[in-house]
Amino acid sequence: MSGLRDHLIARISEGGPITLADYMAACLMHPEHGYYATRDPFGAAGDFITAPEISQMFGELIGLCLAQCWMDQGAPDAFALAEAGPGRGTLMADILRATRGVRGFHAAAQLHLIETSPTLRAIQRDKIARPDIAFHDRVDTLPEMPIYLVANEFFDALPIRQFERTGEGWRERLIGLQKGELAFGLGAPTALPGLTERLDDTRPGDVIETCAPAEASVAVIGERIHTHGGAALIADYGDWRSLGDTFQALEGHAPADPLANPGKADLTAHVDFEALAKSASPAAHTRLTAQGVFLERLGITQRAQALARSLSGAALENHIAAHRRLTDPAEMGTLFKVLGLYPRNATPPPGLET
Ligand code: SAH
Repeated sequence: MSGLRDHLIARISEGGPITLADYMAACLMHPEHGYYATRDPFGAAGDFITAPEISQMFGELIGLCLAQCWMDQGAPDAFALAEAGPGRGTLMADILRATRGVRGFHAAAQLHLIETSPTLRAIQRDKIARPDIAFHDRVDTLPEMPIYLVANEFFDALPIRQFERTGEGWRERLIGLQKGELAFGLGAPTALPGLTERLDDTRPGDVIETCAPAEASVAVIGERIHTHGGAALIADYGDWRSLGDTFQALEGHAPADPLANPGKADLTAHVDFEALAKSASPAAHTRLTAQGVFLERLGITQRAQALARSLSGAALENHIAAHRRLTDPAEMGTLFKVLGLYPRNATPPPGLET
């Protein structure tokens, strides 16, 4: 018996069907039963594995990319080095190790992590091992200073809403009850602003997704970058414009029914990068770039060769497989994309173009 399922069923019986956003937020972040709030889901033993957990090269190249942005912008002597959704803290630990040799970078950096899960905060504190970590629940409280930020697989975890185009207009996909069990249904026709413009590229029966928390977060990050300088690297799976139902659950590395085990499976949706880029204005954004192309441009092959020299046997095999996994179009190379944000008057982050 899932405590969260009972809680959701009681909530729906009382108040009526809930949005996907309410459902996702409860499943991922409920303080007692939420997926991220209660566990460390990463790695082979967990439900999924992310780029920084596959190879240290990912974080190293991201770190050098951010440090280059910092130098290109005149190496401001105090800045926020920030990460949204740091997971196990591996990416930030790799960023810090790779940038140790960048003169003045560590002395100027103040560490800011956006993380709601107390379990993951504790793991991050251990892994990153710096006394000055400031944790935030949301990006809104990030300091007013230049900000160099990375977000890997953060935005796909933020709660989405779905709308289906029908003969009567847009109707929201809701989660209600059928025979006492959680089930999808459709709400009454609605005329939310923002949906009208999607009449051009959709047909009846199509589903579109919106993610207000993602847009609000990027608006804050974009505003900081525009006002104080800095850069953001956003890596995730998704595309320039979302179309269709991308809501999915992963449990034990396999796709699962998102309604089957609330709080026990990871829930995600593809990121609509066009919506993020628009929200970042007045900060400038780069072209959306395949992760494989981005990492190749930053020199992952040279780095992989250098690391390979000290490896042999199974370790070498794993290292070669990790390189392929991050960059190969058949693996994470094109499914994952990178969007850069930067001040209008600055050069774009290395590896990305306008
Ligand atoms: N970036 C990491 C982890 C990705 S998983 C990696 O690449 O391995 C998503 C991360 O975002 C987790 O750390 C999760 O706890 C955090 N998270 C999810 N929703 C959040 C929210 N609304 N606010 C802050 N952190 C959130």
